[in-house]
Amino acid sequence: MSLSVVEEKINAGEPLNFNDAKTVLESNNLIKIGEIARRVKFKKSSNKVYFVLNKHINYTNICVSKCKFCAFYRNGDEKDAYIMSVDEIVDEIAKVPKGIKEVHIVGGLHPTKDFSYYIDMIKAIRENFPDIDIKAFTAVEIDYFSKISTMSYSEVLKSLKDAGLNSMPGGGAEVFSQRVREKLYPNKIPYEKWSEVHKIAHSYGIPTNATLLFGHIETDDEIINHLLKLRNLQDESKGFLCFIPLSFHPDNTPLGLTIKKVDAVRELKILALSRLVLNNFPHIKAYWVMLSPKIGQIGLHFGADDIDGTIDVERITHAAGAKSPLGMAKDNMIHLIKNAGFVPIERDALYNELEIFQ
Ligand code: SF4
Repeated sequence: MSLSVVEEKINAGEPLNFNDAKTVLESNNLIKIGEIARRVKFKKSSNKVYFVLNKHINYTNICVSKCKFCAFYRNGDEKDAYIMSVDEIVDEIAKVPKGIKEVHIVGGLHPTKDFSYYIDMIKAIRENFPDIDIKAFTAVEIDYFSKISTMSYSEVLKSLKDAGLNSMPGGGAEVFSQRVREKLYPNKIPYEKWSEVHKIAHSYGIPTNATLLFGHIETDDEIINHLLKLRNLQDESKGFLCFIPLSFHPDNTPLGLTIKKVDAVRELKILALSRLVLNNFPHIKAYWVMLSPKIGQIGLHFGADDIDGTIDVERITHAAGAKSPLGMAKDNMIHLIKNAGFVPIERDALYNELEIFQ
């Protein structure tokens, strides 16, 4: 099959199937793939590219899950193992120059903290920063909170929403493949539980994102099946805002000895494929931290309409050797988007448009 068949389907508004996606991945015509994905992006969001003034909080790096691809986690007795108190979290957010619209919170699965710590964290942020969107906790963390509190997913999510949580990130999905899960993250929840958490969140009016971690031991077929599962899930629950393909950074992980980081061509192809397959996802993100600002900027021509945010200090990808800056100034972000030929739109966590920079 050729790319022209894929293009015809896209032009006719038909969803791509497994074989279409395979054709895209096997094609070497990167420019054509980008052109088709860019056309889809323009239909969805015209010439707009979104960014957010945000702050990342990684409340602890101590984690019981010990995923083999993770350079961030610590067992707890190392010198650089840490857990932040609720007061420290509030202080860290307060240090960021005024104007942030979103706090993005994810962390390790801490062995001894109980659920009240997480509720207190969200309540304290909500009380101190009433206008900031709180985007917190992956489905993996929600599952862990359910275990340590003996509460159901519904009860955990409702308590967090009542405390002030607005939305959830899309991490912890990795690749929905039992084969890869058993090899790299056997302690992490499988697709069935990840999707259950997101469906319940959507039913409570908590929008979420979704991710894919690629560039390790996954196959093309596993990537495509991952995307098709997400498209079906979105058809069902309609609560996903954005999809973020994350390219794996192998440094300082056990996989780093055998696996090299994927190249830019692969990153751009997966970005474009995501835009083409996930026709029911409003937004696709070129996450500049993992891609680098330069590849992220080019990614805007491969179907992405979001480049994430200013972040302040990013810890997780940098633990795995990311060479991108720890954060990015608002002016730089606007410059990056404008120079790529798009109109920068400052958004909040829910994609409400706050300011247009013509
Ligand atoms: S990826 Fe997340 S769950 Fe896995 S070890 Fe790292 S911090 Fe823990």
